[in-house]
Amino acid sequence: MGLNGAANELKIHRMRLPIWTGKEALVNAVKNNNTVVLLGETGSGKTTQLPQFLFEAGLARDGIIAVTQPRRVAAISLAARVALEQGAPLGEIVGYNVRFDERTSRHTRIKFCTDGMLVRELLLDNVLDRYSVVVVDEAHERTLRTDMLLGSLKRIQRERNTGEKRDKDGKRLKPLKVVVMSATLDAERFSQFFGKCPVLYISGRQHPVQICHSKAPVEDFQDAALRTFLQVHIGQPPGDVLVFLPGQDDIESLAKSIRGYVPQLPPTKQKVLVLPLYGALPPDQQKKIFDPPPPGARKVVLATNIAETSITIPGIRYVIDTGLCKERSYHTRHGGSGLDELLIKPISKSSAQQRSGRAGREAPGTCFRLYTEQSYSQLANAPTPEIQRCDLNSAILDLKCLGEDPMKFDYMDRPLDDSIRGSLITLYALQALDSQGRLTQLGRRLASFPLEPALSLVVISSQARACTAEILDIVSLLTSTAKLFVDNADTREAAADARKKFQHRDGDHLTLLNIFRSYEDVLTGNHNAESTMANGAPANTGSRRAAREWCRVHYLSEKALNEASTIRAQLRGNCEREGIDWKVSCGDDAEPVLKCLLDGLFRKSALKAPDGTYRQIGMQQVLKIHPSSSLVDRKPAAVIFDELLITSAVYARGVSAVHASWLLDTPLMNSNARNAAAPHTNGHA
Ligand code: ADP
Ligand code: MG
Repeated sequence: MGLNGAANELKIHRMRLPIWTGKEALVNAVKNNNTVVLLGETGSGKTTQLPQFLFEAGLARDGIIAVTQPRRVAAISLAARVALEQGAPLGEIVGYNVRFDERTSRHTRIKFCTDGMLVRELLLDNVLDRYSVVVVDEAHERTLRTDMLLGSLKRIQRERNTGEKRDKDGKRLKPLKVVVMSATLDAERFSQFFGKCPVLYISGRQHPVQICHSKAPVEDFQDAALRTFLQVHIGQPPGDVLVFLPGQDDIESLAKSIRGYVPQLPPTKQKVLVLPLYGALPPDQQKKIFDPPPPGARKVVLATNIAETSITIPGIRYVIDTGLCKERSYHTRHGGSGLDELLIKPISKSSAQQRSGRAGREAPGTCFRLYTEQSYSQLANAPTPEIQRCDLNSAILDLKCLGEDPMKFDYMDRPLDDSIRGSLITLYALQALDSQGRLTQLGRRLASFPLEPALSLVVISSQARACTAEILDIVSLLTSTAKLFVDNADTREAAADARKKFQHRDGDHLTLLNIFRSYEDVLTGNHNAESTMANGAPANTGSRRAAREWCRVHYLSEKALNEASTIRAQLRGNCEREGIDWKVSCGDDAEPVLKCLLDGLFRKSALKAPDGTYRQIGMQQVLKIHPSSSLVDRKPAAVIFDELLITSAVYARGVSAVHASWLLDTPLMNSNARNAAAPHTNGHA
């Protein structure tokens, strides 16, 4: 009773998903085993249904069901979907928790979270006592945090389920159930890792997909994707199109060219609805991909690998696969010089199969691969687990906080010993570890911030240098995932002109600070007292609009700035817990801010060589200042930077000028000066 049509329709949609036929067997398997691996085609209902099955079967009675996702967007959107299916407001029974954003209450029984969030919770409670079930979803992606979770969950199960660890009254802890879910055929390895636990399969309803490879290698994937889309649109029967591209930039640029081309087609052709889908997309825009296109229109979704398995889009009959993705990779051969960056890489065979499979969810489909059959045959079988190709500093620090020995941790795939050692050395330089490799008090404080250890140190040292207000602004903007500068080749000059007034002579970090502060002045109406006093209209909406316009004319992303505000709010909370007064400001004095940045970023510092290029301190890497930096012409004697970018040369981006003499005090130049560089040591060193 009381169910309206929409709720009924939802229920029917749910019950039609392939996973429903195996509901009982699934629930029983989880009840009867500590760990279960669940394998099923994307779209079969694993993520949205299994947590509800377990909840309804009473498995959340004395603990929360956590469902981990590699991506924030997916965690949020899946929580919203499951809340809707439960007929409850988001944040009640069903909630989510991702970095810098949480919607849960004490009633929450199903919690979607990023794998990273659950690792952070481990630091607070290393047996995850609040949880009765942890569902590790998208396990095939093998993100760094997923791998850390898998190893830790195995330990927790040993401690909780065998009575090895007791609560403070000596009582046994309640057992922990683990479900590992994957969309690819790698179930055996997960099962092996968890002591040969049972593997359950959901038989999907995959329709045949015809695969067409390029005859010759493609030179320009953007151009090839555009042509292929137009051919499909002109020559093929109705059905929506999904294009896989490496990143947000590629998506935006293809969206622009499709929108430019379509009006030139004969007016008899179907209309085209272009929808982007990538990790940084705001949730309300993301929702649009689930809606059917307007009658008579063809939907084309331009997506990153987020659409490979974690988000299922209805209506897709055609897939265009560029064969590329963006992958974070870390260059250990530079001795850990901080070259951790997103590079465009060929995908693996298993990704290619996932991508083509998206065309056959509802009916037979076609996949156009923009690479040759020979290139396909040369692809790696599966992607390299992230743990074997990324910077491990914060992971190793987390393991130290968990009391684990990073050299002996139960890794499903072990990272290179060199990268573990490299991180141990960095953590020692940051004084997170003492000379015996023991965690210091400072190390524990560094881990309490949701930041990479170097940036946590910047925040902590801002207390002694009395500039926490400035540092939190800068660090928040550095951490925001959306790109702040939104100009492209056509608007670059206009954008540079418009932003000139924010430029700080000491470089890009203080320029960021100027931008953030000007934005907030506009938002609070400070820049123009008249407009906010003019009438009784809520200042908020007016200033929102003003802020949006201000962002537009300065080619800045409102989203990035808003995200930075959210991050800052959380960092302020972290500071309060650490006893750091975040209101302390150094006014217009740049020196303490720069020194603070150097306290954490000393590994990313460089001195100018006579030929005008720079040498990175410690590793002698030759680098240049990136043309986007305000210091590209000034070329100060010593700089710090946020990241290195390798194109035709190695470029430093996000650059600030420092005094060369300051570098003498950094741990890399003078190991005896470690205690001078940061005030919080615990005496071990
Ligand atoms: P799996 O995890 O096996 O890939 P999901 O549980 O994510 O499957 O999805 C099952 C079905 O639920 C999909 O076919 C999709 O159509 C639907 N679905 C998931 N999320 C949403 C959403 N936010 N809006 C509408 N439908 C959705
Ligand atoms: Mg899923």
